[in-house]
Amino acid sequence: ASRPTPNYLSGLNPEQADAVESIEGPVLVLAGAGTGKTRVLTTRIAHILNLGLAYPSQILSVTFTNKAAREMKERVSVLVGGAVEGMPWLGTFHSIGVKLLRRHAELVGLRSDFTILDTDDVVRLCKQLIQAEGIDDKRWPARQFAQMIDGWKNKGLGPAEIPEGDSRGFAHGKGRALYTAYQERLQTLNAADFGDLLCLPIRMFRAHPDVLKEYQQKFRFILVDEYQDTNTAQYMWLRLLAQRTAPERPNICCVGDDDQSIYGWRGAEVENILRFDKDFPGAKVIRLERNYRSTEHILGAAGHLIAHNEGRLGKTLFTEQSDPDHERVQVHAAWDSEEEARAVGEEIEQAQNKGRALNNMAILVRASFQMREFEERFVTLGLNYRVIGGPRFYERQEIRDAMAFFRVVSQPADDLAFERIVNVPKRGLGEAAVRQVHDVARGRGVPMLAAARDLILTDELKPRPRKSLTDVVEMFTRWQSMLETTPGHELAETILEESGYTEMWQNDRSADAPTRLENLKELVETISGFESMRAFLEHVALVMDKDNNPDLDAVSIMTLHSAKGLEFETVFLPGWEEGLFPHQRALDEGGRSGLEEERRLAYVGLTRAKLFCHIWFVSNRRIHGLWQSTLPSRFLDELPEAHVEVADIDTGYGGYGRGGSFGGQSGGPYGASRFDRAEPFSGNYNTPGWKRAQANKTDAARDNWGTRSGPSVERIAYGESG
Ligand code: ATP
Ligand code: MG
Repeated sequence: ASRPTPNYLSGLNPEQADAVESIEGPVLVLAGAGTGKTRVLTTRIAHILNLGLAYPSQILSVTFTNKAAREMKERVSVLVGGAVEGMPWLGTFHSIGVKLLRRHAELVGLRSDFTILDTDDVVRLCKQLIQAEGIDDKRWPARQFAQMIDGWKNKGLGPAEIPEGDSRGFAHGKGRALYTAYQERLQTLNAADFGDLLCLPIRMFRAHPDVLKEYQQKFRFILVDEYQDTNTAQYMWLRLLAQRTAPERPNICCVGDDDQSIYGWRGAEVENILRFDKDFPGAKVIRLERNYRSTEHILGAAGHLIAHNEGRLGKTLFTEQSDPDHERVQVHAAWDSEEEARAVGEEIEQAQNKGRALNNMAILVRASFQMREFEERFVTLGLNYRVIGGPRFYERQEIRDAMAFFRVVSQPADDLAFERIVNVPKRGLGEAAVRQVHDVARGRGVPMLAAARDLILTDELKPRPRKSLTDVVEMFTRWQSMLETTPGHELAETILEESGYTEMWQNDRSADAPTRLENLKELVETISGFESMRAFLEHVALVMDKDNNPDLDAVSIMTLHSAKGLEFETVFLPGWEEGLFPHQRALDEGGRSGLEEERRLAYVGLTRAKLFCHIWFVSNRRIHGLWQSTLPSRFLDELPEAHVEVADIDTGYGGYGRGGSFGGQSGGPYGASRFDRAEPFSGNYNTPGWKRAQANKTDAARDNWGTRSGPSVERIAYGESG
């Protein structure tokens, strides 16, 4: 007791210090955003090391992302002064799973050099199995089955354990047999999928109690961040490792926030956090209530919003960062997504001029298709940006596929593009046929498309591939003839339709298919802003050339889902409209749970901001390819007046800015919004009357210009009518 308080403890508040110093027995830190949960975990590691209670290799700590793992390592080494000699067991569930499996592969029937399959590999494998069973894979798509397997694995269920109903649910009762065959194939291939990285260690531990025991003894301390988003398999895995025989108690410390549970759609079980003290009897539950991240306005707004959820534990949060100079949460309106991106870009430039670093700013979107508009705008402005947690728009699979079609049409010598899509969607052009085309092309020194044209006139190909290749050649010939005469976006639409590419994703029942379709529509829409298909392709080549240097000062663009745990001085939250956020899929579900998960996502978004938080909504957005008038998100209604300011709308783009489309009483079909910057925020525009006005407005908008594309046209149309 006479020892001086180590440096790293002195900055903590009493509850945080308690959480750090309660090293014996199970501890749950249940606390709201920005209260220092992650900081408690890192300090706890430092403390354990400092007291010499364990070697770094005896601490198991689990983070949600690899980025978070890296940050945690850095933070620990700062705290203990000097580099931590390896924290080999600090990582995500998956990375730790891989490590365990490489060591003990033989116990689960693999070799230690097993490969890890990505989603595409998995789908291909499923398809082979489905076809081998003689099942129609149009009716029972491989992607859907891959998704089912993933769902079972998230629950820790092997083929023998899946519910009878689930098995019956695929291909008339073939679910279980296919799953069994799939696992057998993986063994033969010496491969594991992502779900296996969780499930196989569990199986191994169960089958080999001696190995389990070894790890139970090894991991003297277990720490878990973002516990609210663990799924059942992860939970089982932790329970096994944390098991102790009484009177010994597990030294497990989990931190989380039920209000930030946002991965329910991927199998996360918020119940895991709610029943912690049942699973670990005698657990100490610590609540942290002081938020160190955000201003009183940001916190006030987030707290008021999340209070609209029913299924929650409820927590108190306060901040001592109160200052009359603090900016309230700003709500901005824009005409459409293009203007939204333009205005956000301007704000960023202004902030930059005031000396604020781009690294301290983030744009958090609900759906990945929203990113494209910002990326384009930033390229135009020469603003550095990085997309976190996913490929940039033009690097996505469906966009690359579509672009490959466009490239062949406008540059018939582009063999790479031709090869990419000649058999997409599948048209029975196997490797053999493609190789034949290739050989002819090489032999004669002509592009593959030209070679294909020759080849179909011979009888060198078997009848079926010959027919398919003929179709392909004819399609490209037709599209090429349209190139000079048809507007780029119309041609793009024709190509995606006639090639069957759009249909391929429409028939696809996997969870990401709707996103891909959204992205494709976004792509077509983008092309409409260009003079021609060629001009568009040139533009993309330039965008793609932009380098992605990690040391660059750059604005981050990411989805709300991947922003968990992060913080930024300034946060932009665009697209707060009904149907986008909350997302239509959650609304269609009807029940409370989908909507509540959306609201938690909004809470996560708001609470990423330290000083400035700017929310945007637009009045016109393309939804399912059509320009539609949109309703402001209900979440805007749920923000408290005291902490929110409806910002001045001064876009400098014609009459709909000041006193224009958002002017309360100014009339016109678009004039019903109460987002008139002159009026105080009264928070009641969600009244039935207002909604009716909005509904009428949408109809009027459709009649006027609903099917026309391109924002510039609408602006003029509106300017005339308003
Ligand atoms: P989230 O729920 O978003 O993951 P969190 O609870 O993990 O948040 P942290 O990221 O650990 O919160 O902390 C939020 C911010 O507050 C960080 O910048 C952290 O350094 C700071 N912070 C936490 N505790 C203290 C403290 N006692 N004194 C000063 N700053 C603190
Ligand atoms: Mg955290």
